[in-house]
Amino acid sequence: MTKKGYSKKKKLEVELAMQHIENLFVLAANVADQDKTLATRYVAAARKIAMKFKLRMPSRLKRQFCNHCYEYFVPGKNLRIRLHKQRLIYYCLSCKHFWRKPLNSKTLRLSSKKF
Ligand SMILES: [Zn+2]
Repeated sequence: MTKKGYSKKKKLEVELAMQHIENLFVLAANVADQDKTLATRYVAAARKIAMKFKLRMPSRLKRQFCNHCYEYFVPGKNLRIRLHKQRLIYYCLSCKHFWRKPLNSKTLRLSSKKF
């Protein structure tokens, strides 16, 4: 027993779970164009695994689906990204949920490297 009363996460288990989550997102990306519902189901499965093992979803994966309807995003199809007042505005076109992501100096530096 650890301090919080949870049993300690087994390293191998966590590693396998993370791999499984990544694989599910790859599968979702492959089918997103043809079958939207299947892609959404892959996202749901990935979330369930993350919840079971109490893992934090990496932010790069978090940005790939809607936090409200859990639909897998295909930019231009069901996702709109706009820049407004130094913030990125993500707008889900299927459930109309939106959220803002501030562009801080760190992300600006990263984006300037890319382009
Ligand atoms: Zn949505």
